[in-house]
Formats: sequence, C-alpha cells, structure tokens
Amino acid sequence: MNEEIREKKIRQLSRETYNLISAGEIVDRPSSVLKELIENSLDAGASRIDIEIESGGKHLLRVRDDGEGINRDDLHLALASHATSKIRDHDDLRSLRTLGFRGEALASISAVSRFALISNIHEEPAEGVSVKINQVAKNELFIEPSPHYRGTTVEVRDLFFNTPARKKFLRTERTEFQKLEEVIRRLALASPSVSFSVLHNGKVVRDFPEGNSIDRIGVVFGGSFYSNCIEIEEDRAEMRARGWIGLPTFTRGQPDQQFIFINGRFVRDKMLNHAIRLGYSDVIYHGRNPVFAIFLDIDPELVDVNVHPSKNEVRFRNSRDAHAFLKYSVSKAIEGISVGETISRGLPHRITSPDAVPMQFDFGRVNNGQGSREDIGAASQNNGSGKGVDVSKSEPLGYAIGQIHGIYILSQTAEGIVIVDTHAAHERITYERMKKSFAEDRVKSQPLLVPHSIPVSEAEANLVEDISSDLQKLGLSIRRTGPESVLVQAIPAILSKTNVEQLVKDLFSEITEFESSKIIEEYQDEVISSMACHFSIRANRFLTIAEMNALLRDIEETERSGQCNHGRPTWHHITLDELDTMFLRGR
Ligand code: ADP
Ligand code: MG
Repeated sequence: MNEEIREKKIRQLSRETYNLISAGEIVDRPSSVLKELIENSLDAGASRIDIEIESGGKHLLRVRDDGEGINRDDLHLALASHATSKIRDHDDLRSLRTLGFRGEALASISAVSRFALISNIHEEPAEGVSVKINQVAKNELFIEPSPHYRGTTVEVRDLFFNTPARKKFLRTERTEFQKLEEVIRRLALASPSVSFSVLHNGKVVRDFPEGNSIDRIGVVFGGSFYSNCIEIEEDRAEMRARGWIGLPTFTRGQPDQQFIFINGRFVRDKMLNHAIRLGYSDVIYHGRNPVFAIFLDIDPELVDVNVHPSKNEVRFRNSRDAHAFLKYSVSKAIEGISVGETISRGLPHRITSPDAVPMQFDFGRVNNGQGSREDIGAASQNNGSGKGVDVSKSEPLGYAIGQIHGIYILSQTAEGIVIVDTHAAHERITYERMKKSFAEDRVKSQPLLVPHSIPVSEAEANLVEDISSDLQKLGLSIRRTGPESVLVQAIPAILSKTNVEQLVKDLFSEITEFESSKIIEEYQDEVISSMACHFSIRANRFLTIAEMNALLRDIEETERSGQCNHGRPTWHHITLDELDTMFLRGR
C-alpha cells in the first residue's frame, strides 16, 4: 500500500480515470456500445443507419447515419463526459424525448477503444470533420477535415484493448454477434421508419427497409407472424397501448420474440411480462411462450427511465395501474378473436401448433339435439343432391358435411371449408362454461349415488385436507378418509358420467405441481381446464350431422373458441382461393 492511499485524502479523479470507471457502467460488451451508437443516430433524426461489424464487434463496430450531424466546434464536446445536447437541466429529465441524455456514452466508449468520430452538418461532403483520440499521448484529440455526407459515422476498433481484464469477459464471436443482433432488433422495432442495414465480416446479414410498424415487426419476427397476429389498441387518459401480439396458437419454445417498449424505449420488466402472461392465461399451452411487440405510451411524468445507465429498466409511479391496463389490453384482444372476424381476416393461416398434448378422456355427454332443423336440412341436402349448401355469412363456421376418421368435422362455409378438431373444440366449450359458472358462483354439484373411495399417495391426501373447501366451490366434494385414501361424494354436474377416479387422479397430477396453498385462487383456470379435459368428446365417437352443427354453433358462441385451452387450434379455415391455388385452378 502506498503512502497516498493510507492518507485517505479526498481528491478528484483525473478525466481518464473517471472515464474508465464510468465506461464500466455503460460499456460491458460490443452490444452495449452498439446500443449507444444507434440511439445517438436515432436521436439525431437519422432516416438510414448502416452498421458494420467485424468479429462480433470485437474488432470493429462502425455506425453511419444521415442525421443532423455535429457542429465542428462541438466535436470535442461530444467526447467529453457529462456533455450532452439533449438536456439542459434536471427539469428536462422529467419529460425526456430522446434516448440518450447522460452525455456519458461517447466519453466512455472512446476511453476503452481506438475511436474515431466523423461528422458533417452540411450537405457538402467536403465540409466533414473527424476527431480521433490518441490515448497514448494523454488523450490528445486530433481534429482534421474528413469528407463525409451530412450525418455522422462513429468507428470503434479493438474494444477494451487497454482494459484487458474486461476484454477477458468477452464471449465467442458468435455469442457477441447474437447480442448485437438483439440490440438491433429492439431498436429497429421501435423505429420502423428508419432503414437499417447490417454488415458482418463483409456480408450483408440484415436489411430492414423503412416501413410502418407491422411491416417492421413482420421482417424482424419472420413472415408467418404477419398472418398469425392480432392488433392491440387500447386507450386510457394517461396510458396507451398499441402493437401486435401473436395468436395463442402461434407460440415459441423460447421467450425470444417478446418486446415491450415504453415511450419508444425497449424495456425489460418482469411486472409487465407477467401482465401479458396473465392476459394470455389459459389459452396458451403450458411452457410455450407468446410472441409480442407492444408499445406503451405513458405520460413521462408517470414513469422514470432514469433508473440505470444502460439497463433497460423503468420505474412506475403506479405499477399496479400499468399492470392491470396491459393485462386487460391483451386479454381483450384475445377474447376479441371471434370466429367470424378470424375467418374474414383469413386467420389463422399457417398455424405452428405446439407439440401434441397427451390427454386422457372418457366418454362424455355429447351436446345433442340443439342444431336447428335448417342446419340439418342444409347439410343433408348437400350430402344427397350434391347441389351445394346455402351457406350464409351469419354462420361463420358453416354447415357440417360429415366427420372424418371420427376426429374431424368437415364443414362448408361461405368462403371455403372449415375443419374442426372435435375433441379440442368440445373441451374449449366445456372449459368456458365451467369457468363462467364458477365465476358466477353457481357451479352445480351432483352427488354420486355410490361415493367413490380412491387410493392416493399421502401427499395427495394431505393436499385434499388443505384444499377440500376450495374444491367444493368447483362442485367437487372430496374428503380424506385415511392416511392414503380419499372419498369422492359429489362431482361437478357438468362432468357427470365421467370416470371419477381418473378425474381425481388427473386433477391431482396437475395441482400437486403448483407451489401454493391458494391453489384454486391462483390456479383456478388450470384446475378447471384439467376437469374440462374429461368432458370432451372422445375421438372416434360417431356424431350425427345435427350434433356436428350444434357443436359448430357452440364454437361460434363460445369466447375464444379459436383455441382449446391447451392453446391448440380448434378449427382451421381454408378459403376457396387457397383451394384453387392448391389445385392450380385459374392460374
Ligand atoms: P448523450 O446521447 O447522452 O447526449 P453521448 O455521449 O452518447 O451522450 O453523445 C454526446 C453528444 O454527442 C450528444 O448529446 C449529441 O449532441 C452528439 N452526438 C453523438 N452521436 C451523434 C450522432 N450520431 N449524430 C449527431 N450527434 C451526435
Ligand atoms: Mg448517447
């Protein structure tokens, strides 16, 4: 330890030392550098941003824009710390309109790389000026003429060449490049009117042309999102949500296409993610991840973005409001996917269904005899005479023609055909009905003539003790009768004729996984869903045309019936145009 430190005198750090330390906060890898550079270009009003990368950004990052440029006399200030053109005092902090505002990024980046900045505020290229830093010569600045079109280019070479400790933490070129891509995706989604091109090791790897929001999302998420999404648009006095979310049937194994922006800034926020999950709850297959790009506009006074130098975090004045609002916006959009609208919009087209769901189910009661005479007449007329059915637009799912392999219903609609997964559809309908009656606190319970004693594990018997009063609310009357046995005395009326033992076993296998004693309160939907699964039409059960039509009408009426509660699609529409294309008709 040397003398000076022992003395513990307070002294101001030199500019070089200070910049190195603050670089640690802002710049931890190429992707954080790129984020700062692109944000600067966006703040400068660029309409085109060209990004050049070498070796995952470890050797070179170069960002060129056609923004407003930097005045010759300000060039050296751009590299000074705490120097910014974006705010003047702390009042401006309360209503930020730019992405940057700390005046820290270029100072930090230039302290840990071989750095060059070239800029021009004039149309005439010859008036461009560059500034470079010579770190060896005590951070001396070199300012000299350098031709450049209106706009700015920032070049960052050999990141961390002078801070080997930090350089050691860089990952492989591939990993660093993935992180760079992630940054580009976020910023590109938030600024669809700006075109972006990305060159990696001399090859064009991305090219986002300017467009509107959904065009950009389509390019970033991949084309099939376009035909598998729904729009969100919701307004409150102090909050506005818009954006696009994937259909519940269009999910991913990874949560890698989930983007939330607040006032144009990408944020990572557990609370908001949770709200969206809840908005999707019970229409997404367990373990799958929804896809979304949601833009929240909030009165800047109600949200603080000045929480952390570079982490994408925010702090809300009232996070409960934001949570409730987002959840509502998402679930409303999903509930709004009515059968008719979905068909008229040509959705869903190509559905990436999640892996098949293993299910056990019993003979269920079929919804019978509710189809009207006309339904039956129309369908049988078609079967008999081959004359075609009078399908009116008022019945979006059309009229049943017949059942295929005992699994699917084939139906003719005004615009084409519909294929319905009988089991999935029926499960969905049962689920929604049970949920509704549960919510209205009028679940009917049906006593069993002979109560069922069921052997269970000790843990399951304990569980029954804990939650029997909750289960009672769902119409399931069950109590513990021994260390490893329970007795079922009544089941939900809607599930009559179910295999009681199987019902209880399946229910337990579902709820023993939940880590909570408030199972019914928190997992109500899962529990009901598990029960509904028992009441679905068994594959291979023969249905009459009337029963099929009754089911089609039920689907139309049931909320969110486009998906079963495992997130599988319940039906699929194929238009005449698509059939014609399939058979190369009229082409
Ligand atoms: P901040 O963005 O927080 O203001 P930076 O260190 O990122 O701080 O940039 C410092 C200043 O340099 C900015 O305020 C801006 O005036 C100028 N600047 C940086 N990059 C650009 C650019 N691409 N186009 C125009 N001006 C820029
Ligand atoms: Mg900046």
